[in-house]
Amino acid sequence: MALTLYNSLTRRKEPFKPLHEGYAGMYVCGPTVYGDAHLGHARPAITFDTLFRYLRHKGLKVRYVRNITDVGHLEHDADSGEDKVAKKARLEQLEPMEVVQHYLNRYHRDMEALNVLSPSIEPHASGHIIEQIEYIKQILEAGYAYESEGSVYFDVEKYNRDHHYGVLSGRNIEDLLSTTRELDGQQEKRNPLDFALWKKASPEHIMHWPSPWSEGFPGWHLECSAMGRKYLGEEFDIHGGGMDLLFPHHECEIAQSVAAQGHPAVKTWMHNNMITINGKKMGKSYNNFITLEQFYDGSHPLLTQPYSPMVIRFFILQAQYRSTVDFSNEALQAAEKALNKMLEGYARLQKLSASEKSDVTLPDFATQCYEAMDDDLNTPMVIATLFDACRYINQASDGLIHLSAQQIGSLKSLFDTFLVELLGIRAGEGADSSSADTKAYAGAVDLLMEVRAEAKGRKDWATSDLIRDRLAALGFNVKDTKNGVEWSL
Ligand code: ZN
Repeated sequence: MALTLYNSLTRRKEPFKPLHEGYAGMYVCGPTVYGDAHLGHARPAITFDTLFRYLRHKGLKVRYVRNITDVGHLEHDADSGEDKVAKKARLEQLEPMEVVQHYLNRYHRDMEALNVLSPSIEPHASGHIIEQIEYIKQILEAGYAYESEGSVYFDVEKYNRDHHYGVLSGRNIEDLLSTTRELDGQQEKRNPLDFALWKKASPEHIMHWPSPWSEGFPGWHLECSAMGRKYLGEEFDIHGGGMDLLFPHHECEIAQSVAAQGHPAVKTWMHNNMITINGKKMGKSYNNFITLEQFYDGSHPLLTQPYSPMVIRFFILQAQYRSTVDFSNEALQAAEKALNKMLEGYARLQKLSASEKSDVTLPDFATQCYEAMDDDLNTPMVIATLFDACRYINQASDGLIHLSAQQIGSLKSLFDTFLVELLGIRAGEGADSSSADTKAYAGAVDLLMEVRAEAKGRKDWATSDLIRDRLAALGFNVKDTKNGVEWSL
């Protein structure tokens, strides 16, 4: 397999060799479901969706696991240390799982709009408490964890004596110690770097489970180690996530698996870079947490217009996943224009008629695209190559050059493979198809269906067939079913 991927652990590009011939196991840290998905969720989802699509395209059977963090995690709530899901549930008088389901449904809706494929398995942390408890027991048995007042902590110093805590991030514990300050309520730890594997629940904490140590809940880093092992085995091919998860989350995952199993779990660690908005990090203090829904309907004050999900997807793929991306209205408008140009080329390609004799030799675009994808998913290079191909399509469409049936066929397969299948761009949609446009368009087709049904009722077969055939010529699929008519593009 010619594919090379950048491994954050070895800090170089490596040829991708699956551990098991013909199979690839891939784990990606999924969303914490206590709020709407924002731009920060879109990039890892799209990056690893593209990898998932490409590995499958290469003929591998891929098991793609993307977890749902619904237990919450203490480390990230600076306000109170209270589990975020629980906090929101208490405030809204809801069952915690109601909050989780609500945001999970919305997350799925947003991902579907971005044409992000569903993973093979989407396990919930709350559904794997038993596996996490087992994992803790193994780390305790190996001597790399200790119990303290009902909680269990990972012993970073002891681990670091036998192994190296910091292999992934390149940090060492001396430096970490000098920059870590002891926070309130953490006196039960032996060392400020120690992280919780199990946390005893305080009385007001509403999400808790029984364990040998206390009624409590697992630490955040643990769920990925436990669920990764359950579904992908003790050792698997790829673990991905955003760069912000590299430390401490993924560093702790490595320490946990080495402590419990005696060896690491992951062969290739992959991290997508972050997204900034107008040059600033996303953060509450900047008021620039733009949700995906706000992008789609343009309702956030920082946005001058709505942007369709395909524009967001195209914009993200215009950068290689390891480079930073800065969102601004100007940049998104440029992406919208570029996508429209690409889709116009695609539409013109569908209408090209072949000439008996071709008068031009086309570059080997497909090989160029494969080489780009093989080079650590160089999607901007793929897009540039497709634009090159568009130039030929436009010239042929304007009658300036002539293409043979075979050349048109290979251009069609180029776009269907790279633009539609691998980059995941829905080519049937316009880039500026805001939801209002889409609704109007669907309404117009429905109206034609009604006229056709009425014609049929009058036994006016000529009109009914005319509507069906003309729609078919435009690329619509009209099907008569028991429950009426169904159409799709
Ligand atoms: Zn994770």
